[in-house]
Amino acid sequence: MPKKTVLITGGAGFIGSHLCDNLIARDFKVICMDNLITGTRDNIRHLLKDKNFRFVQHDIARPIKLKGKIDHVLHFASPASPQDYLRFPIETLKVGSLGTHNALGLSKEKKAKFLVASTSEIYGDPLEHPQKETYWGNVNSVGIRSCYDEAKRFSEALTMAYHRSHKLDTRIVRIFNTYGPRMRINDGRVVPNFIYQALTGKPITVYGKGSQTRSFCYVSDLVEGIYKLMLSSEHGPVNLGNPDEFTILEFAKMVTCFTRTSSKIVYKPLPQDDPRQRRPDISKAKRILKWSPKISLKDGLQKTIEWFKINHSRLE
Ligand code: UDP
Repeated sequence: MPKKTVLITGGAGFIGSHLCDNLIARDFKVICMDNLITGTRDNIRHLLKDKNFRFVQHDIARPIKLKGKIDHVLHFASPASPQDYLRFPIETLKVGSLGTHNALGLSKEKKAKFLVASTSEIYGDPLEHPQKETYWGNVNSVGIRSCYDEAKRFSEALTMAYHRSHKLDTRIVRIFNTYGPRMRINDGRVVPNFIYQALTGKPITVYGKGSQTRSFCYVSDLVEGIYKLMLSSEHGPVNLGNPDEFTILEFAKMVTCFTRTSSKIVYKPLPQDDPRQRRPDISKAKRILKWSPKISLKDGLQKTIEWFKINHSRLE
């Protein structure tokens, strides 16, 4: 059997690079495409010598030209932390619109199966809790997070239009907060921020009162779910995340406990439009993919702290 070829856009990013590892280990050929605005070669350096791996530096908001067969397109390119998409709002909108259009066009030309990385952000500041795939969301279309939320909502809409009009074989994964090795220490998200602050003895910055909630999924669990979705024939959106929900203050206390830091918690203003609660309903993923996360926050956080301990001086 000839090996299947997978194109991963955003393959040098946090989740994209873990997907590259997973698929190379499963004997796929992987083409990793990234413009490196938030991704980094460090995440894929160990794969560069593998004969089944190819890195192409390219901005997918421009047309994508690739020779040869492609069996799957996994479209993960986008700035993804609030700090990154606030820094690159236009690039975020372009990659979600033009980039998704180009990735879908390539899939159509190659007759490849298509999977788009969507997000829990499409639910905005959710009024339904926990969030099911059937919930339409509560997004401020002109707020500071809208560049990401609306780009991803548009990506989902365009993906469904290609599915309905061109019969493209598509999938949509709605990814909830994910963490693990290879998060950028300075990407501004709560996991690297708190770990970095704790490991360097700096104050731990809880925004607002810390009563807002998130549900954190370890990256290897997420990637396993994405792989199962890639092989499935489900066209509707599927939530992937860990339903264990914590307040941000509880999370800050876990990080201080596991790092045995002397850092003190300080309170900073809550950013505009920060969702007050977020927790995935994963009954659909359990039912159709036979998937559920295995790694508790306690275990995943300890692995992540160990990784940051080894890498944070290099990443600073
Ligand atoms: N947060 C915080 N301190 C930080 C960074 C983030 O209290 O130093 C909060 C943030 O306000 C949000 C939650 O942690 O309520 C998760 O933020 P993150 O940027 O990781 O991702 P989001 O889930 O908002 O996309």
